[in-house]
Amino acid sequence: FPLRNVPEGAVVTRMAPSPTGFVHLGNLVQGLTSERMAHQSGGVLFLRVEDTDAKREVPGAVEVLIDTLKHYGIAFDEGATKDGDFGIYGPYRQRQRAAIYHVYAKKLVEEGMAYPCFCTEEELSAMREKQEAMKVNFGYYGEFAMWRDRSIEDIQAQLAAGNPWVLRFKSTGSIENQFKFDDLVKGKLTITENDVDHVLLKSDGIPTYHFAHAVDDHLMRTTHVVRGDEWLPTLPFHIQLFKALGFKLPKYVHIGPLMKMDGNSKRKLSKRKDPELALTYYKAEGFPVEAVYEYILTILNSNFEDWRRANPDADLDEFKFSPKKLNPAGSLFDYAKLTDVSKNEIAKMDAQKVYTLVTEWATEFDPDFAQKLKADPDFAKAIFAIGRGGKKPRKDLAIWKEAKVLKPSFVTNASAVTSPGVTTLPLNCFISFYLL
Ligand code: GLU
Repeated sequence: FPLRNVPEGAVVTRMAPSPTGFVHLGNLVQGLTSERMAHQSGGVLFLRVEDTDAKREVPGAVEVLIDTLKHYGIAFDEGATKDGDFGIYGPYRQRQRAAIYHVYAKKLVEEGMAYPCFCTEEELSAMREKQEAMKVNFGYYGEFAMWRDRSIEDIQAQLAAGNPWVLRFKSTGSIENQFKFDDLVKGKLTITENDVDHVLLKSDGIPTYHFAHAVDDHLMRTTHVVRGDEWLPTLPFHIQLFKALGFKLPKYVHIGPLMKMDGNSKRKLSKRKDPELALTYYKAEGFPVEAVYEYILTILNSNFEDWRRANPDADLDEFKFSPKKLNPAGSLFDYAKLTDVSKNEIAKMDAQKVYTLVTEWATEFDPDFAQKLKADPDFAKAIFAIGRGGKKPRKDLAIWKEAKVLKPSFVTNASAVTSPGVTTLPLNCFISFYLL
């Protein structure tokens, strides 16, 4: 695992999803942040599959993730691919790296920083009940850490009896102590030390996320860990672990959640309540990729919109993305704003491009419409050309789904129908005329 041959200051980062099958906007936010940071600096973006929890794994999830991110212009330089692994820092799927984790686990045991724990489920629940009664913090720490200081004879007896065990970290931290930490998004944080003897290896010998990410990010020469801020509570443990293993700590970029307005209050986008959290939703609605990408940039970097106004035709690569501009509390996702961005993006396209993209969308989501578009491409393009180009291009189309509408839109829109100038008619009127 040699040092990487990248320019000074280059960002080497990764996406490290668990293959659960659901690709959401948060994945795109993390992917885009990582991709921009890596490629803007001449660094590397790789894909590592964190498949240590076999129970949650959904077959084909890695392929779906790769395809979906690629659709949004996020391509990996290295890592897991649809045809196996690519790169010299592999394997890039954690279950295949078990032997590597074991080397470091043994090192920690030898150095007195990890130990086997033979606690049963019943003992752990009894511990929890006791902690509840005593009104103290939950967890395996201090006086509750039953196997922390057990003799080698006790351990050998358990091993000889074939009892299952996990490997735990022997924490030397105390919740009485605090230290300062600099996160690239959250800024200066005051962190309380971890005193819990967390699990490093589960009873099947497979590591927990905490241990696996420390070993992998060290060996894969990651310089920046970009991830959701749900990992902040375990950051004190991660810092401890890197130190114990003798690894240089990477820089951390903890991204806040995506929020939406619900009445007058903000709340996190939820998988259960908000269909717009799934990335597949945008494809099915027919948002052009460019629009989603531009919109995500506007919510991630507050100066992006000004830059775009000053450079309307510039390539996105020219925008200087900075993780420091991310809102530490999370970004507000505004569907209406996305729709506006999309109208602008579509307004910039010529009729040929609109035709191609609408047809591509319709082929997958509205075959009947696709068939009509393909039957007479020149006529369809002529319709898409209406009001396009010039200084004030039409901006009434936000999603491909709206391209073929729907009788009511012109039946109810009397002023548009009677308007004398054809170019002021909504695009969908024409399509509707054409198709009905
Ligand atoms: N497997 C973790 C997750 O899916 C990755 C977190 C990270 O990027 O380090 O949340």
